[in-house]
Amino acid sequence: MASSNLYALLRSRFPREPGALCLLPEAGDPLSYAELDLQTARLAGRLRGLGVRPGERVLAQVPKSPAAVILYLACLRAGSVYVPLNDAYTDEEVRAFLVDAEPRMLVCDPARVPGLSAAARAAGVDHLLGLDADGRGSFWGEGSDAPLEDVHESAEGDVAALLYTSGTTGRPKGAMLTHANLASNALSLHALWGFEAGERVLHALPLYHAHGLFVALHTALLNGSSIRLLPRFDAAQVVARLPEAAVFMGVPTHYTRLLERPELDRACCRSLRVCVSGSAPLLARTHAEFEARTGQRILERYGMTETGMITSNPWRGDRVPGTVGYALPGVEVRVVGESGAPLPDGEVGVLEVRGPNVCAGYWGMPERTRQEFREDGFFVTGDLARRAADGRIRLVGRARDLVISGGLNVHPAEVERALDALPGVRESAVIGAPHPDFGEGVVAVVVPAGAPLGEAELRDALSGRLASFKQPKRIFFQEALPRNAMGKVRKEDLRGLYADAFESEQ
Ligand code: AMP
Repeated sequence: MASSNLYALLRSRFPREPGALCLLPEAGDPLSYAELDLQTARLAGRLRGLGVRPGERVLAQVPKSPAAVILYLACLRAGSVYVPLNDAYTDEEVRAFLVDAEPRMLVCDPARVPGLSAAARAAGVDHLLGLDADGRGSFWGEGSDAPLEDVHESAEGDVAALLYTSGTTGRPKGAMLTHANLASNALSLHALWGFEAGERVLHALPLYHAHGLFVALHTALLNGSSIRLLPRFDAAQVVARLPEAAVFMGVPTHYTRLLERPELDRACCRSLRVCVSGSAPLLARTHAEFEARTGQRILERYGMTETGMITSNPWRGDRVPGTVGYALPGVEVRVVGESGAPLPDGEVGVLEVRGPNVCAGYWGMPERTRQEFREDGFFVTGDLARRAADGRIRLVGRARDLVISGGLNVHPAEVERALDALPGVRESAVIGAPHPDFGEGVVAVVVPAGAPLGEAELRDALSGRLASFKQPKRIFFQEALPRNAMGKVRKEDLRGLYADAFESEQ
């Protein structure tokens, strides 16, 4: 049986011309596909030489760079399991992942080695190696290990990567993504988004999250594209590089930041064939403003760490703002009610998904895995959604963010949409806060677009638009919403901040 190793699949699509470029960093030399393959062989050989066996974990908290890409691909090639971590995590946070993932090796920025060495030793890590943003560090060794010329023969169910979900509370959950999971998603998206030979991909996403590491990188490598690898998202730098790009992927905040740049216009997007958004909801307003300014209709898709991509708006066809499109080919989705029974189209329930993209479960947490999967193999996303008769999905919010006020369900996304449509509102977030009468009261946090807004004025504007039980009982104003690196609003922070919103009503 042919190997299911993802690196073998990607490599089979590498361009044949010897000089074809793969990674174009902002600083430093470009790397060709041929060099990339040689370097992954060399590093895979080093992993083996250091005793990292197939199936063993390599924890990586490394700055984004071509070397970080090579490290990931070398792990795939050697059959080891890549475990990327956000570089913002503190030593203390990394310690929890060391304990959970039990890696054989930790690779981190050399500056972090002193702070992490005791924790790594305590967790039984054999090798702690440094790799900096310029791709330098002890990681490369003396070059004495023989390169791994072959690609490890992986079975379909072999785990390629352990990705920790972005949840910030409780024990971290590592989603076990197999070679087959990642390959199926990459092939689907590459076909669905109409990639063409020779296209340049502009990569400004982090490499520790599914969006940047899998969606953007895998589709680009499958396409044999040259990849402009920016160290991080910087709006000025992205605008400067857009004219050379055919494909750009970002989170919604990236698009709003780009819109703040006066030089963003049609001319600078002239080569762009598709720009993709995901990881958090894209405001309909952002979609409209981006189209008016650049002529580009942002293509919104939806996915999760545990499942890869689940749905996408079509590349050819209608991209409807506020919806996340249709289930990917081969991926089944259903919307279920509280009893777990599927709901008729148009009703709001929890979205469940089954398909070759869905992870094998949570690392070391069989009980948790059983809780999040139905017996028939569907994974419970925890996202509330509504499906139209033609299969198009609209997300309504996270189930755990649902506000129950006076026994009535209020979907924060619905209130946020009504608020965001009001003049003078840039964006908003709606949460529930403990209320002496209603159990929970609806609280809105609003970011004004310019001039300060008044609470009474906004409440008046909403009164004809939303049933009274959905209307915010309190509205607070902030200059910005707290977000994580992937652009998701940190509602848990807001719930903490406004926990006393109704205290005076006791
Ligand atoms: P993560 O596991 O960090 O990728 O987060 C997954 C969650 O992000 C999903 O369960 C959704 O709640 C949210 N998400 C991803 N894409 C979208 C989207 N296009 N619109 C709204 N929410 C999204």
